[in-house]
Amino acid sequence: MWDLFDLTAQRARLTPTRTALVDLATGGTLTYADLDDRAARTASLLAASGVEPGDRVAVLCRNRPAFFELLFACAKRGCIAVPLNWRMPAAELVRVLADCQARLLFHGAEDADTAGALAGPALALSNLDDGHDARVAAQPPLPPRETWPADDIWYLLYTSGTTGEPKGVLYTYGMAMANYVNLRQGVDLSEDDRTLNYLPLFHTAGINLHTLPLLIAGGEVLVQPAFDAGAVLDLMAAGRITTFFGVPAVYRQLALHPRFKDTDLAAVRRWACGGAPLDDALARRFVERGARVCNGMGMTETGPTLFLNDPEGATAKVGAIGKPQMLCRVRVVDDSGRDVPVGHVGEVWVKGAAVTPGYWRQPVATAAAFSPDGWLRTGDLVRQDSDGYYYPAGRLKEMFISGGENVYPVEVENALLRHPAVLEVAVVGVPDPAWGEVGQAHVRVHPGTDIDSLARHCRSLLAGYKVPRHFVLVDDFPRTAAGKIQKHRLAAPPPGLDLAS
Ligand code: ATP
Ligand code: MG
Repeated sequence: MWDLFDLTAQRARLTPTRTALVDLATGGTLTYADLDDRAARTASLLAASGVEPGDRVAVLCRNRPAFFELLFACAKRGCIAVPLNWRMPAAELVRVLADCQARLLFHGAEDADTAGALAGPALALSNLDDGHDARVAAQPPLPPRETWPADDIWYLLYTSGTTGEPKGVLYTYGMAMANYVNLRQGVDLSEDDRTLNYLPLFHTAGINLHTLPLLIAGGEVLVQPAFDAGAVLDLMAAGRITTFFGVPAVYRQLALHPRFKDTDLAAVRRWACGGAPLDDALARRFVERGARVCNGMGMTETGPTLFLNDPEGATAKVGAIGKPQMLCRVRVVDDSGRDVPVGHVGEVWVKGAAVTPGYWRQPVATAAAFSPDGWLRTGDLVRQDSDGYYYPAGRLKEMFISGGENVYPVEVENALLRHPAVLEVAVVGVPDPAWGEVGQAHVRVHPGTDIDSLARHCRSLLAGYKVPRHFVLVDDFPRTAAGKIQKHRLAAPPPGLDLAS
């Protein structure tokens, strides 16, 4: 990958008067010239605060334009930004800060209490809502660095923690450019596009889908401090959003909104989804409204764009995550690293310029994540069809073996979701004396549902060894900040609760 030149300086030269960021909370806008100027002054503020190139600068805030000023300021200063998860209590953030050893923490007023609990001799605080603009304006703009080297670290993103302890994924300048290329081709981004920034900024989607790529392209980003389905539908109806990314939970909230059916969605040219399994029925509700939601799959470690469906595939290939994007190459392999035939389930291995070089100060975890010849082992299972489209098949860690047969929980979950009473479901393998492991389905259902009907429903759709042996009724699930179900935290069933027998 080639080195980058200062991205906001380049944009300020190419399209100085175009709008870069709109603050939906205040109505304020920043042109590309403004963004570059603000970032360059903020970079001087970092220097004046004693931040040296290579130092870590933590940011704890809700979505606001100042976050992106800081992100670009860190690049201009050559230091490393670390967005923090504001859903984590201070006790958890202490561990993240100990891991990255940030010396300065920027925070918003809403998170002042948490920030206060984190401050100490090694960590200074700076409140974005208390004199920040004046402090920035008082600094001279820092001149652009010679280059932003492709392999240098720009920011760290801690993984969602769906499968365990979060790890700090390294994001380089080269990865940002590669993700831009992948998205530019995947969703056809251009400087005429306008997108919404609302997913949390400590998650890769909040930065990279599609905000940072669109700022590289010269488009307009509307920043919404907290997701509000009604406000999003209004923005869509007013033609202010042309390309939209959401996680399935967001699409569900939009579809359930009372105004969904009457909202004119035609101005949104491209709809992308990812981050967690998208159920087919939900995708169909959008297709019925002319919105072809393209499902994609990626991970923090892949920058994140990896697989993405195209609009044709969104209707012709229901359930698919599309194809690997421009700067990605994938293999689908068995447990000894051999390619599996088309149509068979295997683990995705990936190479590409948007793939992380590793985890922050975790050489053992980094080495374990890559094969000896440099493929990232994603831990995700997929199947490819004969047209080159891929379908998700869950996570390797979640697959279990019942009576010698592989069971992919996602297949069982999809079958259960076809039952009209099932709202949400998570299937895990649990130990069993006779079969080694058997399925246990945790289900959220409409009140009054006959549980026996679920097992019967499964038996009509699935081979016997795939039918869950245990059903557990739940009101909700343990989730990550991004709303994903944390299967490793699902409780074992109470003794004697074996409803399928
Ligand atoms: P951790 O790595 O900390 O356990 P995580 O893997 O959930 O957490 P992310 O990097 O945010 O953290 O999520 C990426 C994972 O989400 C992918 O590896 C995949 O398992 C899942 N995923 C992403 N998109 C989809 C999708 N469209 N369908 C199904 N699963 C998806
Ligand atoms: Mg992961």
